[in-house]
Amino acid sequence: MSTFPRSYPMSGGDDQHSYINNSSYQIAAINSVREKTRQCIIEKLDLPLNSDLGTFRIADYGCSIGPNTFHVVQSIIDAVKFKQVDAKNEISLMPLEFQVFFNDQPNNDFNTLFRTQPPSSEREYFSAGVPGSFHGQVLPRNTVHIGHTSYTTHWLSDVPENVDDKNSPAWNKNYIQCNHSIEEVTKSYKAQFTKDMKLFLEARAEEIVPGGLMIVLGQCLPDGVPLFKTDQGILVDTIGDCLMDMAKSGLTSEEKIGLFTIPAYFPQFSELKTEIEKNRSFTIETMESVRHPLEDIPLSNQFLISMFRAILSTIIKEHFGEDVIDELFDRVAKKLAKYPIDFKECEKNVTYFLLLKRK
Ligand code: SAH
Repeated sequence: MSTFPRSYPMSGGDDQHSYINNSSYQIAAINSVREKTRQCIIEKLDLPLNSDLGTFRIADYGCSIGPNTFHVVQSIIDAVKFKQVDAKNEISLMPLEFQVFFNDQPNNDFNTLFRTQPPSSEREYFSAGVPGSFHGQVLPRNTVHIGHTSYTTHWLSDVPENVDDKNSPAWNKNYIQCNHSIEEVTKSYKAQFTKDMKLFLEARAEEIVPGGLMIVLGQCLPDGVPLFKTDQGILVDTIGDCLMDMAKSGLTSEEKIGLFTIPAYFPQFSELKTEIEKNRSFTIETMESVRHPLEDIPLSNQFLISMFRAILSTIIKEHFGEDVIDELFDRVAKKLAKYPIDFKECEKNVTYFLLLKRK
């Protein structure tokens, strides 16, 4: 097993400028499911919203530094309040108090998160930061009424076994991601994903109260589509190619590249569904693919490069050193200017929306 650090600030960090692009891609998806989220809460939340409940507790797992998490939390609160007003048959309609737990890895920039949250005069909730990996329990049992996570569960807790071992059939060679081109590599990634998804759901099953909801928004692949056929897959493979070019110029080494692979895995839709169905503590209320609002707008090379620079800078720096980043992404820009990604020919990844209810 590699010595890869167990936590990665995959967004934010020191690349705040390009994070805006990354963040806006995600918020576009979050906004597009806002109405769906609201309907789901109104229809499926199975809790008496009266004063017996006391405080209504929401957790956003993998919240990053904002602002997306603030939008999500507010729309959840709006839906719960709407549902409460709607439930006229309840004897007591004491306004609920809301508490929000913002979870992310301990090295997330929680200072920025709390500095940029809406001012207390406008905020309808009490905030608390919860540092820790969501692959384990981060809150006490039966704490959360609605859990939410978006664009997080493809991140693995570690580099999968043997993919960085030159002597193993699961060695990922000079690829820097699991792009589905080497079967043994895919197997190893899938095994890690299965393990992590199980841990994620088991931990949420402890934390979420019976009748409570867990909302998951994320990205996966359509059935039968390998990552290397998608625009994002091609972009990351191009980053790998540019690293190899840099090795040829002596700016890094092939050996280093052979040891580097990104700990993220995008399952195919039914593969994801199978993993979720294995957990018996939740019922799947909804699992569907949703249109990403930017789906039909051709993304520019520049947009993609800046998005992936934000996502990958920190782990690339950790492995290859500070100096490679500018040179690397310069080369990626030049390569894509020369050989642009043919977006029309590419397969599209899928945005999925999942609603689970705690039994
Ligand atoms: N949910 C936000 C941010 C997504 S970026 C949005 O939709 O805009 C992914 C975030 O997940 C990062 O902030 C990363 O640090 C966090 N993350 C990844 N693995 C995690 C883990 N095991 N535990 C907690 N947070 C994690």
